[in-house]
Amino acid sequence: MAMKTPIIFANWKMNKTIGETKDYLDQFLDQASKYVGKVEIFILVPHTALAMAAFWTENSGVKVGSQNHFWEDFGPYTGEVSAAMVRDCGGRYGMVGHYERRLYFHESLDDFRRKAKAALRNQVIPVICIGESIEERQAAETESVIRKQIGVIFEGFTPSEVEACCLLYEPYWAAGAEKPAAPSEAQKAHWMIRNELRKRFGEGAAQKVKVLYGGSVRKDYVMDFLIQSDIDGVGVGRAGLDPDSFLRIIEAADSVAAD
Ligand code: PEP
Repeated sequence: MAMKTPIIFANWKMNKTIGETKDYLDQFLDQASKYVGKVEIFILVPHTALAMAAFWTENSGVKVGSQNHFWEDFGPYTGEVSAAMVRDCGGRYGMVGHYERRLYFHESLDDFRRKAKAALRNQVIPVICIGESIEERQAAETESVIRKQIGVIFEGFTPSEVEACCLLYEPYWAAGAEKPAAPSEAQKAHWMIRNELRKRFGEGAAQKVKVLYGGSVRKDYVMDFLIQSDIDGVGVGRAGLDPDSFLRIIEAADSVAAD
């Protein structure tokens, strides 16, 4: 079976100073170069480290991005950072809608749509998070939750805008947990996501959009996710904070791609 190039990214969350970013990249980039071209790698760093991280990763093939941005490009929005500023710092990716943004900052699906649009208009690839809570899962609402999230976030998008996005299916109950979702359960959700996009935006957009899995991914079972037909890659939180453990995940992804 011809494998797609797997996409692997780390979300550092609110971790690492500029100095710690340098130490990490010093350990990481040389080894990561073995996988560049075979695995698409990016790191979502804090805004404060973004410009330097972009500078240090320039020409390495490893990309960087941000974890959040505002939906306007500039103006009187004290404390906010725009997607235009993310791009200006060298950020190529911009996460939108992580469940921690909903939980702690009460962001809505409408906010996520506006942020995703802002990313696209500034040549930043939006990494749009969707997924259900444990209560919704227990109530067998996963499918309806996914449909609603896609319906609101992608309202008014064109098929080519959808194609340019990256989605992260991250069930809240599997993020920061002991264990990830079962790969077969994740595959089912990914199929639902693609099918919903197919119904709304057509076959081309559904096939081209990247859909990644997130939630407690570790090196030992990353391949169990990557072999699923609708999973294009994975996003990692804790396991991406240490350069060695992130590299082991990338190495595992590369071995699947090479099969
Ligand atoms: C996350 O919260 O986005 C995440 C993927 O975290 P972890 O890998 O630590 O579960």
